[in-house]
Formats: sequence, C-alpha cells, structure tokens
Amino acid sequence: MRPRKVALLGATGSIGRQAIEVIDRSPDLELCALMSGTQAIDGLAVARDVRHVQVGGKAAPLLEASDPDVVLNAIVGFAGVEATLWALEHGVTLALANKESLVAAGDLAVSAHRRGKGLLLPVDSEHSALFQCLEGREPETVRSLVLTASGGPFRGRTRSELEHVTVPEALAHPTWSMGRKITVDSATLANKGLELIEAHWLFDIPYDRIEVVVHPTSVVHSLVRFRDGALLAHMGTPDMRVPISFALAYPERPSVPAAPLDLAGGLDLHFEAVDDDAFPLLGLARDAGERGGTFPCAYNAANEIAVAAFLDGAIGFTEIADTVAAVLDETDGAPARDLADLVAADDAARRAAARGMQPA
Ligand code: NAD
Ligand code: MG
Repeated sequence: MRPRKVALLGATGSIGRQAIEVIDRSPDLELCALMSGTQAIDGLAVARDVRHVQVGGKAAPLLEASDPDVVLNAIVGFAGVEATLWALEHGVTLALANKESLVAAGDLAVSAHRRGKGLLLPVDSEHSALFQCLEGREPETVRSLVLTASGGPFRGRTRSELEHVTVPEALAHPTWSMGRKITVDSATLANKGLELIEAHWLFDIPYDRIEVVVHPTSVVHSLVRFRDGALLAHMGTPDMRVPISFALAYPERPSVPAAPLDLAGGLDLHFEAVDDDAFPLLGLARDAGERGGTFPCAYNAANEIAVAAFLDGAIGFTEIADTVAAVLDETDGAPARDLADLVAADDAARRAAARGMQPA
C-alpha cells in the first residue's frame, strides 16, 4: 500500500514539530503539504521533498493542489476554521488539533461533516482519549464524559492571588510543553472551556453530561462514565506524539517511542473539583456553549484578543476573563448561516474585546 499523504498545517508549531517526528518515523505516512502562519518552512520542505509549501494566506488552494489523504490542522486560533471546513466538506480525513475552529464553527462544521462523510479524528489528548473509550459503544450506555484538567500553574490560588501573576509564570505549565496561546489558556482554564465545547460537537453530547475534573499529573487523559456505573479511563505519560500518531495512522495504532507509564513506581491519581471563582473562563464557556449560536465564536475571539494582550503586557491575567465576560454580555449570539456570517461574528467580538481593553 502507498503511504498516506498528510497535509500539515501549522507545521512550525509545537504540534506541527511533533507531527513531523511521527511522520518521519513512519513508512506509512508521507508529507504532501506544509503550511505555517509567518515562519519560513523551506528547510522542513526541502529535507522531505515536499512540493506544496505555503506561508500565510488561505489553506484551500494548497489543499486542492496537494490532494491529501489526511489534513492535520495544527494552526492556532480561529485562523484554522477555513481548513477545518474544507476537510469536512470534502470528506478528507481531518486530524484536528485546532480546537478553536470546532468551537467557533460548531454548527457549520457538523453540517459540513454530514455532507462530506469523512473521518474526524481528534488530536487533543482528552478528546483522543474519549474517542478511544467511546469506540464501539452504544450511545445510550454512556452516562457522561469526564474531561480532566491539569489545573495549570496556578491551581490552588484564589482570584485575588491571580491578579499580579506574570507572563513567565503563566507560561510555566506543570505537565505539558505547548505553544504560548494554549499554555496561557491552560493557566486560565479557557483551554478546558474550549475543550468542553469541542467535546460537545465531537461526540454529540449535551453540556450537562460533560464533567470537568482537575487531575494535576495529567496521567488520566479523560474518562467515560457508563450507565452501569463503570468508568473507562485512558492513561499514559503526557506526550502529544501519542494522540497525533493515533489520528494520523487510524485505525492502525503503530508504536510510538513515548516513555512507558511507571505503574509500580506509584501513580498519583489525585482528582479535585475546579475552583470556579478563581477560574471563571470555564463557566463562561459552558454558558456560551449552552446558549449556542455564535456565543462560542465570540468567547473564542475575545479570548484570543485578551490572551494576546496579556502576552504583550497590556492587561493583567484576571482581565482575560473580565474581557471575555464583557464581550459575551454585549454579543447577540445570532447563529451564523455561513462562513461569512461566522467571520463577521468573530470580527465583531475581536473589536469589542479590543475596545473593552483600552485604558479609560
Ligand atoms: P503553536 O503556536 O506552537 O503553533 C501554531 C502554528 O500555527 C504555527 O506553525 C504557526 O505558524 C501556525 N499559524 C498561525 N497562524 C496561521 C495562519 N493564519 N495560517 C496558517 N498557519 C498559521 O501552537 P500549538 O501549541 O502547536 O497549537 C496548535 C493548535 O493545537 C492549537 O489550536 C492548540 O489549541 C492545539 N493543541 C495543542 C496542543 C499542544 O500540546 N501544543 C495540545 C492540544 C491541542
Ligand atoms: Mg487538551
């Protein structure tokens, strides 16, 4: 059999680089296209003889020209929406790391997926875990999904203690090494908020049946509760090459050189509740998800703008949540009929967030 052709979008990022490692090791996978936002990728492409390469711009022409078997969308932020919709509409297998696209475009993505009838395979570790625990189960046997959260670097702090935390402190994630935006999202728990909405769309489960629990060691990647009281958990050392490989090679499950989990050495399987007062962005996401329409799109857009401002030193850590809450308050959340509507909603929320952050 010829190798599976992978179009890798977001090739220079944290997921992108780990995906290249996975693909380089596998004779069954071959890169057919590489894309980044602004960083040069010629070196990556030449070394692997990849002809379709693009920095910035629209993903569709690159995808049309390179004719992939799998699109790995590892772009960060709303910029990934176009590629997600393209793959779903065309029935090309989508390995999805870019959670923001499913959060913002949920309804449109589900419709495109129904029309295209391709595979949608999550790369996010929690969702890869849930996908694996759910495989082959009857939906009526599932009571709830349980997303685990590490709690980030500020677990245990109160809201007032979070007011003066610095950018380097927010970027020091205890268990995962990732891009800057998702690392800040993990510190505010917006990442878990985005993942909650992502899980709703991926697994077609109402929000009141998706739980979130803090699990500081990130050994249990998520769990499914069944109606007979049994729980299935997915465990392993935190290593994104595992879910990346799972999605790219599905259903083959080839070997990955991840460190084995040391069971006899003593596993820390501690779980605790989320502190909703200190980390309001999770509750705001649940609320936005339940309201539906473009509320999740506005949540995501406001968060992207606020996180960028925090990283630039323009606002404090707790102002990220304040900004998102204020934008959601002034948004009408009208559903998007198409991508143009969605882009307009995203843009309006970005402008509202920027206005709200201007010094008085
Ligand atoms: P990153 O910042 O390290 O990399 C982002 C990549 O996207 C870069 O290659 C950048 O050039 C590219 N990019 C940015 N804007 C673009 C545009 N307009 N067009 C094309 N490419 C563009 O981010 P990351 O940590 O690799 O995360 C990527 C995505 O995967 C995010 O949605 C994140 O939430 C998700 N994710 C990441 C991890 C992780 O461990 N890093 C885990 C789960 C999910
Ligand atoms: Mg995750």
